Amino acid sequence: MPGRTGFHPAMKNLLRWILCGGLWLAGGLHADGPRWWKGNLHTHTLWSDGDGFPEMVGLWYREHGYNFLALSDHNVLSQGERWMNVSNVLARSRGEPWRAGSHRPVDPFRDYLRRFGPDWVETRRNPTNSETQVRLKPFGEYRAQLEVAGRFLMLPAEEITHTAANRKAIHIGAVNLHDWIPTQDGATVPEVLARTLRAVQVSADRNGSPVLVHVNHPNYKWGVTAEDLAQVVEEPFFEVWNGVDGDNDPGDAHHPPTETLWDVANTLRLVTFQAPPLFGLATDDSHDFQGTKRRSPPGRAWVMVRASHLTPESLIHALQAGDFYASTGVELRDVRFDGKERLLSLRIHARPGERLVTRFIGTRRGASLDGRRRIGANGKEIDTTLDYRTGSGPQIGEVLALAKGSNPSYHLRGDELYVRAVVTSSRRVAVATTEAEFQTAWTQPVGWRNLVPAR
Ligand SMILES: [Zn+2]
Ligand SMILES: [Zn+2]
Repeated sequence: MPGRTGFHPAMKNLLRWILCGGLWLAGGLHADGPRWWKGNLHTHTLWSDGDGFPEMVGLWYREHGYNFLALSDHNVLSQGERWMNVSNVLARSRGEPWRAGSHRPVDPFRDYLRRFGPDWVETRRNPTNSETQVRLKPFGEYRAQLEVAGRFLMLPAEEITHTAANRKAIHIGAVNLHDWIPTQDGATVPEVLARTLRAVQVSADRNGSPVLVHVNHPNYKWGVTAEDLAQVVEEPFFEVWNGVDGDNDPGDAHHPPTETLWDVANTLRLVTFQAPPLFGLATDDSHDFQGTKRRSPPGRAWVMVRASHLTPESLIHALQAGDFYASTGVELRDVRFDGKERLLSLRIHARPGERLVTRFIGTRRGASLDGRRRIGANGKEIDTTLDYRTGSGPQIGEVLALAKGSNPSYHLRGDELYVRAVVTSSRRVAVATTEAEFQTAWTQPVGWRNLVPAR
């Protein structure tokens, strides 16, 4: 007998199965939708001037809640055969006799052997002086020890480290890079940057895989100016915050902070070049994993990327779309720009007792682009980012509004070239630094798309 619905029981079961299957599928799709992934895009190991084995460095990040990591050593892609004297490994920790929080002497080689075992760790006798040597594993080998599908991803990377002919230092991160790129010479920083971008693009095209290129710590040795960053419009990313103490992110009496460089470069790009603004990353640039060294330990700065999958392609496409934020501790649940309503809104994960202040920063039309040379302590002009401040009228990188609490928003009034948000917490940074006291998050510039012709 058919039931009162008129369906045969077998048919009802089929309908139930289809319905449940549909719900499961919908749930599954929801679960697989975009989510936040935490990552560090700038890290050093023994492959260049860091003090940790790549596997140990990778473990540090995996065990501290990160989802992806780029090991970006100077001018090397962690490929091929490389042996290092164990005495040289220990020398990297010189002056660090004690492990932080314990009385065990620092010995990264012993720690490495203990964690990965003699079957993995390879040693040999140097035939000329009988020193013990340890093999530095290449990316293709160590990634297998670290990666966990859907939880932790390793990205091959290089910090292309160079000095332009005008003696300005320029360090360029290339993440998800599959070919070693030699340093590219140039008379000026923009020339070095443009040539490096072209060389990386050739590699990306050959491998059919996107490469994320970013200018590192522009204020390090005052190497890169805002005008340099502005004119190479193909460059999409730079580091608005880098964890190394002494890389001059906050600027000094004669040089503007990195955040000012960001606003100047973005204003010049949008007005002078009709080009998209730079997006700002935060990275550790960690070198120091042993003992109590404080110049560049891990855990100071990272990016949170909203992507569907933990794959290089998914992450890099999200970064290129600006769907990420940089952080030194503040966590966002959401950041969203409604282009129709012209509304930038944030939802911040506020922790107990935490006070949050959000500054909405941008440049309005009419800001002066007439920069003046800055004057140094000796009264002479300095070769650095120009000074665009004027006594009145719109200013580059103004604070357009301030908001307290965990749900700040800003309605664009119509005269902004772009707007971005910076959230500052009353909580101190977890890993002490001389350059910042309080946890911060930086969102990406929005509201500028109608100023840039479609490419
Ligand atoms: Zn560097
Ligand atoms: Zn570095």
